[in-house]
Amino acid sequence: MIQIAIDGPGGAGKSTVAKTIAAKLGIVYVDTGALYRTVGLYVDKKGVDPHDAEAVAALLPEINIEVRYENGAQHVYLNGVDHGDAIRTPKMSMYASAVSAIPAVRAFLLETQKDIARKNSVIMDGRDIGTVILPNADVKIFLTASAGCRAQRRYDELIAKGQNVKYEDVLAEMNQRDHADSTREIAPATAAPDAIVFDNSGMTPEESAAGVIKIIKEKTTAEV
Ligand code: C5P
Repeated sequence: MIQIAIDGPGGAGKSTVAKTIAAKLGIVYVDTGALYRTVGLYVDKKGVDPHDAEAVAALLPEINIEVRYENGAQHVYLNGVDHGDAIRTPKMSMYASAVSAIPAVRAFLLETQKDIARKNSVIMDGRDIGTVILPNADVKIFLTASAGCRAQRRYDELIAKGQNVKYEDVLAEMNQRDHADSTREIAPATAAPDAIVFDNSGMTPEESAAGVIKIIKEKTTAEV
């Protein structure tokens, strides 16, 4: 069994790198942000303010979240329904960030994440994987890049999905979300003391993946 933790801010390319490595190693890729996005989606459906900790916590008993792997891809089922890309909108990014600062939400999603890692070799990406979810991971990487670079990647991604967004708005939202994620009281998005910080500004996805693979090879005997 192997555990690889990839943390870092939005737009650092965590999921692209993690998917490449999961495929190479034949291990499970866990996108933990999707879980917070799914809670955010439910909160939005109920018309509740995602910053209202009490109201959000009161909704949790109504939520059942199940992670399934279908043809190697992760699907998150919310009360039996897979909402697909509906969790990927800029609005759901902000909702996910808001609900993720609520301790009851983090506690609610903790066991789901730990359970997947108990049963499978994993590469997990998120904000607190190396610090909270997998404190004994074989490799911990904090993947980052300049804010401008990350915003450009996120903008290109959203445009490719046909969403009508402006670069300035994407940059502003990203900065706001990074600030909230890294300064919150519970599980702030920071590098674990034993994580390797890797800045992939200006790199292609291939170069970024190659850099991460080099770190994994140095730290483990995994045949990447
Ligand atoms: O990674 P992604 O952008 O999908 O994450 C959405 C939000 O979920 C993040 O901005 C962060 O607030 C939250 N999150 C978290 N802990 C994780 C993964 C995501 O707090 N492990």
